[in-house]
Amino acid sequence: MLKILGVTGENVKSTVSVAMHVRSKKDEWKDIVKIEDRELYSDEVNRISLIAPRATINIIRDYNVAEKMKVELPSVVRGIVRCANPNCVTNSNEPVDTSFLVVSQRPLTLKCHFCDRIQSSVEKYII
Ligand SMILES: [Zn+2]
Repeated sequence: MLKILGVTGENVKSTVSVAMHVRSKKDEWKDIVKIEDRELYSDEVNRISLIAPRATINIIRDYNVAEKMKVELPSVVRGIVRCANPNCVTNSNEPVDTSFLVVSQRPLTLKCHFCDRIQSSVEKYII
């Protein structure tokens, strides 16, 4: 999860805590991502939405929840997921960013903009 967020680097000084599958009041399971002392970039929010589409992100400042937001899957996912098709132009040496259309949210299904490959297992292809 933290690898997906891209926050495992040595330059991370802030506290990031993640709680997945916490039972919420509405008796549903939900994922909670708590980020302390830093804001999330939209690219990071998009990454979270891919692996935990129902996650709620709590931004904590001074030990209080300053902001809560539900993640929202974008309609187009750019540069986050690698295409599963080895012959796709995005897997060649061309400097092309990957781009996928979100065909379905549940289950998550992406379609490559370049080769039309349909991709439903996303997690292992996250860049
Ligand atoms: Zn492709």
